Amino acid sequence: MAELTPMMKQYLKIKEENKDSILFFRLGDFYEMFDEDARTASQELDLTLTSRDKDPNKSAEEKIPMCGIPYHASDSYIARLIAKGYKVAICEQMEDPATAKGLVKRDIIRVITPGTVIDSACLEDKSSNFLCGVYLDSQNAGVAFCDITTGKTHLTSCSGRERIEHVINEIGRFSPAEAILNDAAASEGQLTETLRERFHCRVENGGEDRFALKAAQEHIAMQFGAEALSRLGAGNPAAAMALGGLLSYLYETQKTTLSHINDLDYYEQGRFMELDLTARRNLELTETLRGKEKKGSLLWVLDRTKTAMGGRMLRSFLERPLLSVTAIQRRLGAVSALVEDTAAREEIIAALTGMGDLERLIGRIVYGTAGARDMAALRASAERLPAVAEQLGRFTDRRLAEIARELDPLTDLQEEIAAVIGDEPPFSVREGGFIRPGYDAEVDRLRDILSGGKGVIAGIEAQEREKTGIRTLKVGYNKVFGYYIEAPRSAADKVPGHYIRKQTLANGERYITQELKDLEHTILTASDRVKALEYELFTRLREKVSAQAVRIQRTAAAAAEADALCSLAEVAVRNHYCRPSVDESGVLEIHEGRHPVVERMLRDSLFVPNDTFMGEKENRVAIITGPNMAGKSTYMRQVALIVLMAQMGSFVPAASARIGVVDRIFTRIGASDDLAAGQSTFMVEMTEVSEILHQATSESLLILDEIGRGTSTYDGMSIARAVLEYCAEKKRAKTLFATHYHELTELESSLSGAVNYNIAVKTRGEDIIFLRKILPGGADRSYGIEVAKLAGLPPKVVERAKKILKELEEANGVQYVAPRTEEPQVSLAAIGEGEVLDALRRCQVETLTPLEAMNLLYQLKQKL
Ligand code: ADP
Repeated sequence: MAELTPMMKQYLKIKEENKDSILFFRLGDFYEMFDEDARTASQELDLTLTSRDKDPNKSAEEKIPMCGIPYHASDSYIARLIAKGYKVAICEQMEDPATAKGLVKRDIIRVITPGTVIDSACLEDKSSNFLCGVYLDSQNAGVAFCDITTGKTHLTSCSGRERIEHVINEIGRFSPAEAILNDAAASEGQLTETLRERFHCRVENGGEDRFALKAAQEHIAMQFGAEALSRLGAGNPAAAMALGGLLSYLYETQKTTLSHINDLDYYEQGRFMELDLTARRNLELTETLRGKEKKGSLLWVLDRTKTAMGGRMLRSFLERPLLSVTAIQRRLGAVSALVEDTAAREEIIAALTGMGDLERLIGRIVYGTAGARDMAALRASAERLPAVAEQLGRFTDRRLAEIARELDPLTDLQEEIAAVIGDEPPFSVREGGFIRPGYDAEVDRLRDILSGGKGVIAGIEAQEREKTGIRTLKVGYNKVFGYYIEAPRSAADKVPGHYIRKQTLANGERYITQELKDLEHTILTASDRVKALEYELFTRLREKVSAQAVRIQRTAAAAAEADALCSLAEVAVRNHYCRPSVDESGVLEIHEGRHPVVERMLRDSLFVPNDTFMGEKENRVAIITGPNMAGKSTYMRQVALIVLMAQMGSFVPAASARIGVVDRIFTRIGASDDLAAGQSTFMVEMTEVSEILHQATSESLLILDEIGRGTSTYDGMSIARAVLEYCAEKKRAKTLFATHYHELTELESSLSGAVNYNIAVKTRGEDIIFLRKILPGGADRSYGIEVAKLAGLPPKVVERAKKILKELEEANGVQYVAPRTEEPQVSLAAIGEGEVLDALRRCQVETLTPLEAMNLLYQLKQKL
């Protein structure tokens, strides 16, 4: 290192300690990157790569690649690197280069990582940004999640053979942006691969020391208090260790106070419905299967929240459906009260509209990155709190009354901020201009001086006239000697001795005084002084507000919950949902259930509601047949979604529903996009089925669509049958089983609890009409050729297929089953005059939907 410049030595030393980060090295107004960092950054950020001499005495080969960005524009560059999964270490100048002796002292002030970003440019409003810590050993696993933007921290643990699956399922609830793992966890391929591939999560092996129990306990006690630690004490030590690892990583990277991380949500397995990643994806809870978009997901239907924090709260309801009937009832009670009182609900919604993200505002304030605009936003948001509290306070519902009590209107803070910070403050807190006039006399005086100091100058002028008795004395300014006093020659004898003559004019003299010199200095330095003073006043305010963090956080959580509950109520009213009755009966009884998303997507046509009845013994297994496109898959998902919505405390799309709480929902539906990972469709399907068969209990709900499709008919059918038998007899789980294999309908007579259903279709001539109605009994045939025709297969191919089918059936001694004859109730357009009675005779009232009945009546009336 001997030949390097002192600054490069300093750089290399700091880089050595931050090998895995891109180092932003502050040099004056720039952050510079060198070597590999410069190459990476120039590529990722489209920056020009230049070079710098390592050693001023050496040749061009010794040049080191570098690139830089202006420090004030660094946020967006950092955001882009973080989004690509890099860590960025910020190295600042720790002293003023102008006054520093020798090399400027530099140090890392913060390491920004995907799981610890706080800058809103890197964050989505309605999603949390979790850092995750996983501790694993031969028996136990602990997993912790922390969102440092809000301080929310969640922790759980599990043990036993399936602990890795459980950890992955928990990870599915929180979708972390970054994970820090102990050695054992880091060597679990399934875990790390899932984190990387499914969640695009940055994964770091944090080593074993970081997770040591003793240090973990100390960190937890310090961050969350001794009480939180003792709550954990009795449980699995893996939980404390996972959280300890996470905290140690936070301390290492953040290097600042994290006092807003103070509330620990420790939950045991069994508090929430467990959902594996396949079920989450197939049920399209927060994003669609194909497009990975929110639009088309259940969250898209349910989210009418007005604030970012409410949006995150609603999402967490959805990610964590409840298992306790009491807890579900409590939430349903609150939604129900809001549904009934339209006026109060609308007032609350109006007050919440435009409220800022209190959770993240207080996060930034405690963290020290908040600006005057954040303060103004906090004030403006707080102004809306009393209206929310007042409306909530009117309810007798227990949960709403509790929320009203937790909601502190923060009037004192609001007034304090309003007094200090002016309206519409500028972005930067370093440039001044945000302290409200009248708040601080010194700020006002300096500002006056800055704006030309007219008042001060006039004051001196008046004072000198008075003292000298020269009525025509003037104070002026020129570039050569600054402020001066001008007096006419005729008054020269009245000029005091301390005036220093500077210039003689035709009929006057110009003087300067010490007072004017001082004023000049004040004016020249006023700009810097007022900026520093404003910043100091701001810092003082920030500390004051920080000290109230817990109060603000509690209020924010209450407002977020009010928002999420109002959203559920508003959706229930708009979409005509009903309050489900929830119990532990093990029964699912849904009348006129609808698919919450499909019914919103259908524009012109109407969704056909369907009933469901599944008991603990009777009707435990529904074998559903019907052609492709009939609506089997929609029906099964609809049942799962209704159960899930009920357990998150939402009303449900049905005329009425009774939901016996289920512990888990499993799905095996259609082709999976794991195909890209190199597994065959059949292999993926069988792996999923095998996991379901291992993990399902008699309390679970299983959705199995087309098991055994990816292999030969006989293999497939045998597997499907064996799976069905196992589910019904061994698992005794409630199972909805859609199949192509009509042969399986025979099981109804031999398998206890199994019942056949089909989704009705009709044919008219050679065309097929979907009725979307689920009926008891198996489907008569598969209508594959009719559906293919509908899909636009060329007529020649359709004809040929029919012919082949006929030959095959004749060869096997099976009769070609004639399509059901046309039943007229779906479209009555064809009825002519005089046919009304005939039409009435032919129509089957029992399979008509209410809407079809209305249409029928209308059309019949037209004929009369
Ligand atoms: P399958 O699983 O039997 O092949 P799907 O469940 O995929 O059929 O349904 C096919 C399409 O039919 C869906 O995309 C949906 O638009 C429509 N559909 C399904 N069920 C209904 C219903 N109950 N009412 C109206 N349209 C429906």
